[in-house]
Amino acid sequence: MKNFQIIKALSPSSAVTSVSKEPSAKFIAGGTNLVDLMKKNVVAPDKLVDINGLDFKKIEFLKGKVSIGALAKNSQVAEDPSIKEKHPLLALALAAGASQQIRHMATVGGNMLQKTRCSYFYNTDMPCNKRVPKSGCGAIGGSNRMHAIFGASESCIAVHPSDMCVALTALDATVLVEGPKGKRQIKFIDFHRLPGNTPEKDNTLLDKELITSVEIPDNNFTKNVHYLKVRDRSSYAFALVSVAVALDIQNNTIVSARLAMGGVAHKPWRLTESEEFLKGKIISETIFKQAADLAMKGAKSYGDNDFKLTLGPNAIVEALTIASSK
Ligand SMILES: Cc1cc2nc3c(=O)[nH]c(=O)nc-3n(C[C@H](O)[C@H](O)[C@H](O)COP(=O)(O)OP(=O)(O)OC[C@H]3O[C@@H](n4cnc5c(N)ncnc54)[C@H](O)[C@@H]3O)c2cc1C
Ligand code: SF4
Repeated sequence: MKNFQIIKALSPSSAVTSVSKEPSAKFIAGGTNLVDLMKKNVVAPDKLVDINGLDFKKIEFLKGKVSIGALAKNSQVAEDPSIKEKHPLLALALAAGASQQIRHMATVGGNMLQKTRCSYFYNTDMPCNKRVPKSGCGAIGGSNRMHAIFGASESCIAVHPSDMCVALTALDATVLVEGPKGKRQIKFIDFHRLPGNTPEKDNTLLDKELITSVEIPDNNFTKNVHYLKVRDRSSYAFALVSVAVALDIQNNTIVSARLAMGGVAHKPWRLTESEEFLKGKIISETIFKQAADLAMKGAKSYGDNDFKLTLGPNAIVEALTIASSK
């Protein structure tokens, strides 16, 4: 690892100013992803701006929404009694991520910006368009068991690895940011992006922008929710496929549905067509299977990950069945 300078930010604006002065500078929060990337020389910043002293750790229930600070720890959010009561899908997704120790360090903002777990991205001896644009993609035609079945491109077939972000996508969250050009808001569904021919860009954040908080609007998804994560080990493993389900059920009929998948695309993958289909339907295995078939339209696998074409719809049906039976 090369030597670097580290400074503590005293305010959001000083954090943005400090990071803007040095092209390679980066914010550091929990460090659970960034330090690994630095150790492997995947990134080599000259300066780190430590944002842990900023006042972004609060979870506040405001009129019509909850505001979660970007520095709230993953464990803090997952274990917050009011989050568990009002947004249980988010609590379940967070609790499914990493390990208790990592969740104690990992922050909400850092979780959103964690890099893909594609092994070629972490190996500087291998080609990877995301790490070095135009160098090629090792995973296409290589080892691609963890990779995408939706929205991939000829440049990159990586997936976004977060569990939390799948729930936040389903819950219509908004991201609040502050940067050199001021403050702005980004809809969560527009925050992460598909690779296209610029896979080096994971999201729509502008250079040197700081995530300050995430907001979730109030909803009725307090009971019939489930986060199903299929992985190689029961802890400490990223999703092969995950499904976030939130249903508003009255008299056995689905009033509204939210569905999103993880481990299948470069961004959390919202299943809007399936959501529309489920609206107004009486609960049954048949309609769950039809919703899953709709969700899988356009899926494409790359060899090692062919199993996701079967695992994906099965996981959707299972998650819907569990959520609707609560
Ligand atoms: C062994 C292991 C297993 C894991 N398993 C899972 C899993 O199953 N599911 C899952 O979802 N995650 C998993 N993770 C990932 C973990 O959740 C992330 O590493 C963590 O959430 C990152 O948060 P952090 O605060 O440590 O970020 P950092 O490592 O500090 O930062 C990550 C990136 O975000 C930037 N950044 C951080 N905060 C901000 C901000 N507020 N504004 C702008 N930029 C910012 C940094 O500059 C850096 O580029 C695992 C990690 C490990 C090491
Ligand atoms: S899938 Fe993406 S991250 Fe993985 S090697 Fe290809 S370009 Fe790199």
